[in-house]
Amino acid sequence: MLINGKQVAAIDGRTFTVTNPATEETIVSLPHGGLEDVRSAVDAAEAAQPGWARVSPRDRAHVLASAARLIRERVPALARDLTREQGKPLRESTDEIRGTANVLEYYAGLGSAFRDDLYRLAPDLDAQVLRQPIGICAAVIPWNMPALLFAWKAAPALLCGNSLVVKPASTAPMTPLALAAILHEAGLPRGLLNIVTGPGETVGEALVSEPRVRKVSFTGSTETGRRVMVLAAANIKRVTLELGGSDPMIVCEDADLERAVAGAVAGRFYNSGQVCTAVKRLFVHEAVADEFTRHLVAAVERLTVGNGMEPATRMGPLNSATGLERIASLVRETREADTGTVITGGSESSGAGNFYEPTVVTDVAEDSRLLSEEVFGPVLPLVRFRDLNDALIRANRSPYGLGASIWTRNTKYMREATRRLEAGLVWINLHLKVPPEVPFGGTKQSGLGRENGVQALEAWSETKTVLIRE
Ligand code: NAD
Repeated sequence: MLINGKQVAAIDGRTFTVTNPATEETIVSLPHGGLEDVRSAVDAAEAAQPGWARVSPRDRAHVLASAARLIRERVPALARDLTREQGKPLRESTDEIRGTANVLEYYAGLGSAFRDDLYRLAPDLDAQVLRQPIGICAAVIPWNMPALLFAWKAAPALLCGNSLVVKPASTAPMTPLALAAILHEAGLPRGLLNIVTGPGETVGEALVSEPRVRKVSFTGSTETGRRVMVLAAANIKRVTLELGGSDPMIVCEDADLERAVAGAVAGRFYNSGQVCTAVKRLFVHEAVADEFTRHLVAAVERLTVGNGMEPATRMGPLNSATGLERIASLVRETREADTGTVITGGSESSGAGNFYEPTVVTDVAEDSRLLSEEVFGPVLPLVRFRDLNDALIRANRSPYGLGASIWTRNTKYMREATRRLEAGLVWINLHLKVPPEVPFGGTKQSGLGRENGVQALEAWSETKTVLIRE
């Protein structure tokens, strides 16, 4: 726990442990926060924020830039610690830590572009539109991308002059703690960035409900997002909700199949399938489905599953035993109810660690949970379609609307899909890539509001209009 720039124990002295999902060994014991700890973090954030609001955006940006430099110098160590707590292969952890430095640099670059607007409405009437800090804000983050998602929230929040209290996930809290320590080393004044570790149901709810917290930025499941929205409603807090997804990937008959197979494998099995914008439903045109499936299965069977610390590993364990059980039971149900055919994978490993084989399921029934729910693990359902209209109707048949991709060379198909796909982000001939320069977020039950891009500055500040007559 980090409060007022210092590592502190929980007020009642309780702790919890973090385990390595590949070996089931205990890595660390951390403070199990409670309501008093949340109050103490918000006290620190309240005391520090007014001073930070008076610092120029350029000087705030300087802290982000210095932190990015320190992160880049320490990529290997940070990546190893991320793999140990989260499970992903070292090469993916390295990507994520580098991506985290990119995010801090991107926002640092926006510091000098930060401006208020001035209007002359009439010869004797001027207006100013000021961008002001919101005040004390909260960020609740999940375990699947604990470094990147920390940066997506902390960097714009701090750049805009706010103070922040972060609640990390209990299975991957070490990386956010390490990044917060780096921001302090880079010159962030104490009290502006506090981290309270502990369970979502107590620490998370207390933080979201704290009357002094004026904005909550939440990334996690749709179910928890709904709860966060209800709690935030009591004080009409601003909320940004980045929730679950069930992204469709549509492969047309004219697609470059080699690229599409590589896109599907990376899109589904990166981070063991635990990505909000992973390819969760694959739609392939019936004319190319047999050939595509053959190549897909061959590529999936080449993925080496193992401890993320091993250089040969391409897919690590699931982050938790609960996540593993959820995936295993979905596949069991599919087999028992005969709602799909498992053509590769489909079992968990018998040794230590939360390992599950990369799995592909075909002949998936329309009402299968593999299509209607978010499958947060390495299981890919493949569905054949007749024509683009059929694919788009089925792709949109989901409560989620985060990302979606179409793979084709036909510009008519590209335009049609871009217009009709119900998603916050549409990729054409790629999937999964999320650069910090452009807005990111979901429609439907995938969330509310956008992160990234200059749009994030609006989400982390209040607009104040001033009308002036001299
Ligand atoms: P989760 O909702 O279980 O937990 C997310 C965070 O919320 C954790 O820190 C948790 O401790 C906390 N939390 C739990 N209950 C809470 C409560 N009642 N009040 C306040 N906080 C509470 O989600 P998860 O399993 O950690 O993450 C996986 C989910 O996150 C998936 O659905 C995934 O799609 C989604 N996700 C979305 C995005 C996005 O940008 N849209 C990005 C990554 C992950």
